[in-house]
Amino acid sequence: MARSVFEIVGPIMIGPSSSHTAGMARIGLMAYRVLNMQPQSMHLDLSPKMKTTYSGHRSDAALFGGAIGFSESSEELKDVINIVQKMGVKTSVGFLPEGSPQNTAYLLMTDAEGVSHSITGTSVGGGSIIISAVDCVKISLAADEYHIIVWSKGKLPELEIPNTVKVQSGTREDGITVSSFSSIMKIDETLQKELETLKDLEKISVVMPVLTYGGTLPQCKKISSCEEVVKIAQESNLTISEIAIQYEMGRSGNSEEEIVELMKKQLKVIKESLKRGQEENKLLYGLASGKDGAKLMQAVNNGDTISGGIVPIAVAYALGVMEYNGSMGCIVAAPTAGSSGIVPGSMIAVQNEFGISDDKILNALFTASLMGVIIDEKGVSFSGSVGGCQGEIGVSSAITAAGLASVFTTDPVKIVHAMALCLKNLLGLVCDPIASPIEVPCIKRNAVGVANAFISADMALAGITSFIPPDEVIDALLDVEQRLPTELKSGTIGGLACTKTAKFVRACLQQ
Ligand code: SF4
Repeated sequence: MARSVFEIVGPIMIGPSSSHTAGMARIGLMAYRVLNMQPQSMHLDLSPKMKTTYSGHRSDAALFGGAIGFSESSEELKDVINIVQKMGVKTSVGFLPEGSPQNTAYLLMTDAEGVSHSITGTSVGGGSIIISAVDCVKISLAADEYHIIVWSKGKLPELEIPNTVKVQSGTREDGITVSSFSSIMKIDETLQKELETLKDLEKISVVMPVLTYGGTLPQCKKISSCEEVVKIAQESNLTISEIAIQYEMGRSGNSEEEIVELMKKQLKVIKESLKRGQEENKLLYGLASGKDGAKLMQAVNNGDTISGGIVPIAVAYALGVMEYNGSMGCIVAAPTAGSSGIVPGSMIAVQNEFGISDDKILNALFTASLMGVIIDEKGVSFSGSVGGCQGEIGVSSAITAAGLASVFTTDPVKIVHAMALCLKNLLGLVCDPIASPIEVPCIKRNAVGVANAFISADMALAGITSFIPPDEVIDALLDVEQRLPTELKSGTIGGLACTKTAKFVRACLQQ
C-alpha cells in the first residue's frame, strides 16, 4: 500500500490525537462495518502503554463512536459516551497483556442474543490503521479496500474468484470458518450473490472502504526518494506539486479534479480551524490556557515581538490550531494531530503576509504532502509512541519547509533541501507528554516546528544545501527512531513526563 497525500495533509478529524483518537475511531468504524451488529455491550482492550493516555486522547470514546457508525470527523465523537449510554449499550475498558503491539485495540461486541464478535486493529500513525484479526482469526483488512466477510460452518466450497480479489480464511475455536474477500475495486456482485447463498452460511458482511480518498491501485507507481522526485521534475519539467497530483491519480484512480477538490476541502478545514484557534478554547484537561495563540497574536499586533513579523504570526496561528485540537475541535492532521498547527500556521501566515492565492497554497500543500509520502515510503513512523516526536513535529516541520519553499521557487533541489535542512534540526526529538492529553509539551512544541520550517525554507531559497543528502537525512531519522529508548516514546515515563511538575500534575488528574 502506498500512502495517500491525504494521509499526510489529512485526515480531517476531531482532536486531540491522530493515532489514539482518529485511528481508534477508524478501527471502531471498521468493526461497525465488518461485524455488522447491534451491540448491547462493547468491551475494549488496549495496548498496555495506552493506560496512561487513552482517557485524555478519548481513545475509548472514539472507538465506541466508530463502532456505532461515526467517522473520525463526526462532531458526535465529542459526546459519544452519553450517546452510547442513551442507546443502552454497556461499555468497559481493559488492557491487552504486556508485550502486546503498540497502539492496538481489541473490541468485543455482544448483541441482545448474547452473540459476540470481535475485531483487532492497530493504529499505525497519522490516523492510518490496519485490522489484523476478526473473531481472533488472523485476517488482515485494509481500511481503503472493499471486503466481504463470511462466517460459515466448515470449509468454503470451491468458488470462482476474480484474480483482483484476495482471499483469507481461518477457523475459530468453535469450528466456524471466517473468510474475507478483499479488493481495491468494488467486488463483483456475482461473487457476493454466490456467497450469500452458501449452504453453511452463518453471517455475511459487505464492507465499503472506511477511507474516502480511494485505495492503492495495484499498478500504482510509488515515489520512494527525494532523488527520484528531483529527477522526475527535471526530466518532465513538472513541479513537485504537479508530481504529487499525478502520483495521487496513479495511486487512487481519482481524477485531477477530484484530487484538487479534496485538497480544497482540507484547506477549508485548515482555515476554519485557524479561525477557531484564535478564539478562547477549553482544553480537555486545561493544562494550557486555551488562549495562548490569541495572546501571541495580541503581542504581534502591539509590536511587542522580537522575532520579526511573519514567524510569530505563524506561531500564533499554530498555537491556536493546537488549542482548538486540544478541545476536540475539527482539524486537519498534518501528518498528525499533535503536530497539526505547523502546516496551517505557516501556510496561512505566508498567504496573508504575501497576498498569495489559494491555488498557490494548494500547490504548497501538495508539495508538502509528497515529501511526507517519501518519508513514509522510507519506513519512518508518524506516531510519537513508535518513533518519538521527531516523527510528528519533526516531519511536520520538514514537510512545511518544503511547502513554504515551493511558494517561492519551482526548483525541486531547493525544495527537497528545505525539507532536509529542517528535518536534521529535530532528529532525536523525544515524545514526552506529561499527562495523557496532547497538551504539554505538544501545543507549544509546534512553535519550534514553525520557526524551523521558516528558517530552513529561507536557507534553501538562498541556495544553502544540506551537506547530508536529503534521502540520507530521512534514513538518519529512521535510524534514530530505532535507537530511541522506549521511555522516550510517549507513555508518560521519560523526558518532561518524569519531571517533578509532571508527576504532580498526573497525581492531581488521577484524584
Ligand atoms: S510530544 Fe510530540 S509526538 Fe508526543 S504526543 Fe506530543 S506532539 Fe505527539
